[in-house]
Amino acid sequence: MSHLHDAVIVGAGFGGMGAAIQLHRLGFDDLVILEREDDLGGTWHVNRYPGLAVDIPSSTYSYSFEQNPYWSRLFAPGAELKRYADHVADKYDVRRHMRFGVTVTEAEWDEASATWTVTTAAGEEVRGRYLMTATGFLSQPKLPDIPGIETFRGTTIHTAAWDDDIELTGQRIGVIGTGATAVQLIPELAKVASHLTVFQRTPIWVSAKIDGPVPKAVQRLFARVPLTQRLVRTVGTSVLEVMMVAGVLHFADLRTANRIGENACRAHLRRQVSDPELRRKLTPTYQFGCKRPTFSNDYYPTLQKPHVHLETGTIDHVDETGIVTADGTRADLDVLVLATGFDLWEANFPAFPIVGRDGRELGRFWRETRFCAYEGVAVPDFPNYVSLNSPYSYSGLSYFTTIETQMRHLDRLFRAMRARGADVFEVTQAAYDGFLERMRDLLEPSVFNAGDCSGSRSYYFNQHGEATLLRPTSTVAAFRGAARFPLDDYELRTAPRPVAQGR
Ligand code: NAP
Repeated sequence: MSHLHDAVIVGAGFGGMGAAIQLHRLGFDDLVILEREDDLGGTWHVNRYPGLAVDIPSSTYSYSFEQNPYWSRLFAPGAELKRYADHVADKYDVRRHMRFGVTVTEAEWDEASATWTVTTAAGEEVRGRYLMTATGFLSQPKLPDIPGIETFRGTTIHTAAWDDDIELTGQRIGVIGTGATAVQLIPELAKVASHLTVFQRTPIWVSAKIDGPVPKAVQRLFARVPLTQRLVRTVGTSVLEVMMVAGVLHFADLRTANRIGENACRAHLRRQVSDPELRRKLTPTYQFGCKRPTFSNDYYPTLQKPHVHLETGTIDHVDETGIVTADGTRADLDVLVLATGFDLWEANFPAFPIVGRDGRELGRFWRETRFCAYEGVAVPDFPNYVSLNSPYSYSGLSYFTTIETQMRHLDRLFRAMRARGADVFEVTQAAYDGFLERMRDLLEPSVFNAGDCSGSRSYYFNQHGEATLLRPTSTVAAFRGAARFPLDDYELRTAPRPVAQGR
């Protein structure tokens, strides 16, 4: 039988690294982090399209315990995030656990030995006492199911598989999608394309971006007096928190807060677009917050350049030379960019089959019942399994809030196990059911339930029509939940010891 690691972590992005750092703090050192890509960093390794930048202020979008004083801009470019991930991996000594180019195909719990066995695409089996999946939310690229798309003879590229070698200069480029990725990419493509056609199905709420370089003197101040950067972080986190809690989660009681967000976006659109017809096309019909809004100062101006065209007609099909819309309009293209986002609910929850006790498969269980994980981490019948990209786990707008809340949860859980001499945990059905009921009640006044999200096609909603991605509480409440959850919400026990085999 293969070696038994303390934990197998799947995913070497910020979530997986956070889990490894927490396990180190708890005294576990025999970890293996399996990563399908050829390097660490998750989103920030995979995404490298032109214009990529963080869309949460960088002082907030980082681990609270490892602030980076040297972000070059308020919203740092993607390459800096990748460098930050490398820095964290080295400083916290988690790189040595990582194995790259390893695609996990399945994980299965063995009740008799109380261990997880993870199978890889190469047929290898990797065993761990604990299994933690940190495979991200936006990690399974979605390819649009458009008739004829495979027949296109030019270059087709998804934004999450960017290739710097493709020729863009002087090309006729088409972009399908107008989500946060497209909003960042389109202004960059327009700088080099001879003609750019943007195919929009659903417009996105866009607000002005307050961005700019962080002066060297400020970076030095952050480095010398970290408290100053913490203050900036607190302000950034608080603004995002108010947007989220007041504008989105308490929509039914605080309509004005939601309107402030929507009006800010409408004003930005009015300032930047004078043509009423174009403005109409760019105005979403769903309420602010149904879908993640974005920030940009150059998206709307780009759409008004003479060589850029916003196409809102329904795409009928793609043929060898371009895209044809339902009214017969053709756009001849050299390059087709798919800014079509990610498949969360079909391909990603979970990212590969996870088989718990009695053959229960997590994906089927979620689809046949409801999507949920207790406190965004645990599911009954899946002992010793921590799902870090779970329904109801995403708390606040910065992913780091989620990661650190989960790290806190692990801290409390594993210390309780140690105190009781246990090494197996399993959330009780009652705790899981109670959490699910509470989340569903909390969602009632949110924009997702009380607002009009019908035209949004938002990835916050699962295939049951429920918005179960975000945890409908403040980040403070989420952190409090992680720090104080009742310990008897878990059954803790001791794993069977292997019988000595002799020599
Ligand atoms: P997205 O928000 O899911 O947007 C995908 C776009 O593709 C949508 O406009 C969608 O239209 C369109 N689309 C998909 N399939 C289509 C089809 N068959 N025909 C026509 N249009 C189609 O994906 P994303 O822009 O990659 O952004 C995903 C998330 O990543 C963001 O919400 C954000 O959280 C994150 N993000 C973060 C950053 C950052 O921090 N720097 C940058 C980029 C993205 P419909 O809306 O009509 O489906």
